[in-house]
Amino acid sequence: MIVADSSASLDELIGALRCLPGVGPRSAPRMAYHLLQRDRAGAARLAAALGHALEVLRHCERCNAFSEDAVCARCANPNRDASRLCVVENPTDLAMIEQSQSYDGMYYVLMGRLSPLDGIGPRELGLDRLIVRATDGVVREVILATNFTNEGEVTAHTIATLLGTRGLAVSRLSRGVPVGGELEHTDIGTIAQALAERRVL
Ligand SMILES: [Zn+2]
Repeated sequence: MIVADSSASLDELIGALRCLPGVGPRSAPRMAYHLLQRDRAGAARLAAALGHALEVLRHCERCNAFSEDAVCARCANPNRDASRLCVVENPTDLAMIEQSQSYDGMYYVLMGRLSPLDGIGPRELGLDRLIVRATDGVVREVILATNFTNEGEVTAHTIATLLGTRGLAVSRLSRGVPVGGELEHTDIGTIAQALAERRVL
C-alpha cells in the first residue's frame, strides 16, 4: 500500500515535470530522481518559488510582461522614452535587448507569435491589446523585434499592416540578426547593431 502510494506521487511528479518545454519521457524521471535524491533543498525551494510566483505574478497592463504590480517598474520609469515601443515575442527577448544597453524606450511583450498551424491567430495572441497600447497618443514609433523565423516574420508583417494605417512609424530590426535567428540566441552586440540600423517599414 505504501509502495503504491509513493509511486503514485512519483508518477505525478514526473508527469508534472513534463509540462516544461523540452522535457520528455526520459528526462522527466531523471529530473524527478535528481530533485528527490540529490537536491531536496533545491526541490523545496523550487516548489515554494513556483507557488509564490503563481500567486503574485500577473501581466503588466502596459507591456504585458510579468509583474507583481498592475504596471511594472519599467513602464512606470519616467526616464524611459515613451515615444518608442519595441514589440518582442518573449520576456527573454526583452532581457536580451535590455542587456544590449542600446534601447531606452518602452516594450510590448506578445508572449508568443502568430502560428496559424497551432491555432494562434491575431485574436489568440491579443493583437488588439497591442494596438490599443501603441495608439495611446504618446507612442510615435513601433519597433518590431520579433524573431527572424517564419512565424516571427509573419507576426511582424501582420502588426506592421495593422499599425501602418494608424499613422505610426513602424520599423523592423535590421538583418544583423541572421535569417531564422532568434533573439535569445543572438549576441547582444548584434542586437544593438540591428536596433541602430532598424529599417522603416
Ligand atoms: Zn510593464
